[in-house]
Formats: sequence, structure tokens, C-alpha cells
Amino acid sequence: MEQRTGGRPQRRRNVYHGTQAQRQDVRRVRTAPPPPQPGASRPRSGRADASYRRYATQKRRHRALRQLMFLVSGLLVVGACVLVVTQSKFFPIHGEEPEPVQPAAAMTDVTAEEAKSGFIVAVDPGHGGGDIGAEGVYFDEWEMTWKTAGYLMDLLEADDRFSPFLTTDGNEYEKASQRAANAVEGGAQLLISIHGNSGDDPSYTGFECYPVPPGRTYNAESLAFAQLIADGFGAANENLRGQNGVRYIYYDANNEKKIYEVSDTSVHTDPTFTLLEECGCPAVLAEQCFITSPQDVEAFGDDDGCHAAAQIYYDAICSWYETYGQPS
Ligand SMILES: [Zn+2]
Repeated sequence: MEQRTGGRPQRRRNVYHGTQAQRQDVRRVRTAPPPPQPGASRPRSGRADASYRRYATQKRRHRALRQLMFLVSGLLVVGACVLVVTQSKFFPIHGEEPEPVQPAAAMTDVTAEEAKSGFIVAVDPGHGGGDIGAEGVYFDEWEMTWKTAGYLMDLLEADDRFSPFLTTDGNEYEKASQRAANAVEGGAQLLISIHGNSGDDPSYTGFECYPVPPGRTYNAESLAFAQLIADGFGAANENLRGQNGVRYIYYDANNEKKIYEVSDTSVHTDPTFTLLEECGCPAVLAEQCFITSPQDVEAFGDDDGCHAAAQIYYDAICSWYETYGQPS
């Protein structure tokens, strides 16, 4: 196209007019960046440069402030997490109680037993360890003897004067000689052996016991113990067999039982019960009741009966101890 060449020359346009308006905008909104102007060039005047530097400086400060706040927030979150993890060991979450502190040196049962230095009583449960003893009308002999021995142990252990122990743990069969050896090893100062009687006729009833016989060491002390026990059963209305429930027993050359009433003080060379022969202390073997008799079992064979029998044995031990067991 052909240009106009004639007439008034066209006025040259001021190229800074547009940017002046931008500068005014910047002054009105000091924090807002100038709207992007495609193709617009950066202000070139001194005032425009100063304004832009202030704006840029402010923007850098704000960016730095945001970064600082972000960093501080992050550090706070990390710190809180570390606190929860480390403190949870000492202040558990979910309301759990702290682990109890175990004493550095807890006293063991053995130590406690050794610390107790009472009069040593051996309690022999008669049977057990696979040896059932005699068959009873409701249960076998070993059940009654172990139950009674357990109750007697409870009574003796609760009494500071005594240090009782069982002649066998019942895990395996131990014959009488082994139980006697166990009693000696345990330092027994008095022994009670608990058994149940049996008979072909259920009408057989009553209590009897056997002390170390005449002519043996500990006969007098054993006899005194036996009489205290028999008196206790008599006082509980149990039938006392023989003269007063105390008898001596021997085994002859044919291993046949030979029984003598307590009034017969003659000395016999035949052996008595092995446990009485070899336990090395005053001792009594008790036939608590006839486990073949319903009447006897109700009196001294069932749970209440075993409890009652244990109490009689315990009372007899206490009485005997006051006469024979006190240190001289
Ligand atoms: Zn027996």
C-alpha cells in the first residue's frame, strides 16, 4: 500500500505511557506483582527500577518467610514424633501400666525354707507314685493318705515352730526303706506315716496306730506320740481298735504280721515296719480308718474326714513337741 506523504507529519508516540500506568498500579498495590504484559518491556527509568527493586525485595522476603515458616513447621512435626516415640517407653500409650520392676534378688522358696529353722517333722503319705495301697469302697488308699498329708503339711507350714517335709514327692514309687532314708537325709526329728486300713468285711471299722516298739531307740517318745494321736481320734468318737488304739506290730520269719497290745512291753527281735525301724527318730504309723467301710470313710476318709484327721495329727504333734521337742 502507498504511504501518506503529504500534510502534517505524524507525532511520534511516547513509548513509556503504557508503563507509567503500570508503575501507578504497582504503587497502589505494593505487594501485588505487575500483571504480566505479553511483549511489555521492563521499565527503564530510575524511579521504575527502584520501585521494581522494592517489589522484588519484598517478594524475596515473603518467599524466605514462607520457607522459614515451612521449615519451622516441619521441625515441630518431626520433634513431636520423636517425643511420642521416645516417651512412650516411659509413659505408654493406651493406658498401659509400666512394667513392674523385678527385685534384683528375690528370695527363692529354698532360701525361705532354709531361713526357717523350726522343729523338723517328716510327713509320710504312705503310698503313691503308682502304689495305690488298698482298694477302698469309694477310692483307693493313696488318695486318702495324700490328701490328709497335704492338709497336715498346710497346718505345720503355717506354724513357725515347725519345718515339715514329705518323705516322697509321689512322682515315682519309693519303697519304705527309701522313704526312711529320705527322712534321715531331711534331718527328721519326728515322723508320722499315714495309712488307711482295709478288711474283707465292710463292718470293720476303727483307728489304730503303731509306735516304735519296746527295746528300740525312741520307743518311749514314739509311744507318747501314738497315745496323743489315739486320744484325739477317740475324742472325735472314732472306734479305737485294741485296748486304746495303740499297738505294736512285727513281721515274723514268714513275713506274717504279729500284733501285740500296747500293754505288752516284751521285747521282740522280729522287725517292725521298715519305716519305723530306719527313720532315725520318734515315729508312728497310723491306720487312719478303714477305707473299706462307708461309715469310716465318712468319718475320716472323705475330704472333711481327711481335714479332721490332719487336725488331730497336728494337735498331737503340738502337744508332743511341748514335752519332747523343745530344745533343752
Ligand atoms: Zn497303707
